[in-house]
Amino acid sequence: MAKIVINRKWCKACGICYNLCPKDVLDKDDTGKVVVKNPDACIMCRICEEHCPDYCIKIGG
Ligand code: SF4
Ligand code: SF4
Repeated sequence: MAKIVINRKWCKACGICYNLCPKDVLDKDDTGKVVVKNPDACIMCRICEEHCPDYCIKIGG
């Protein structure tokens, strides 16, 4: 299973990661910051990690 590590302190709620995720793994909280909604669906494509402008996301596993 993929390990998704998020540094929410750095997240500026831009929406890029959860809008790009092809598996709907990521979602936003009520402030627009990313939350992991469905980690089991992650296919480790790393699109979120590569596109976050603030390097908040690390995908491992
Ligand atoms: S792409 Fe990065 S800064 Fe933007 S919402 Fe996602 S984690 Fe936050
Ligand atoms: S690695 Fe891919 S599937 Fe997993 S959360 Fe990021 S964008 Fe979604």
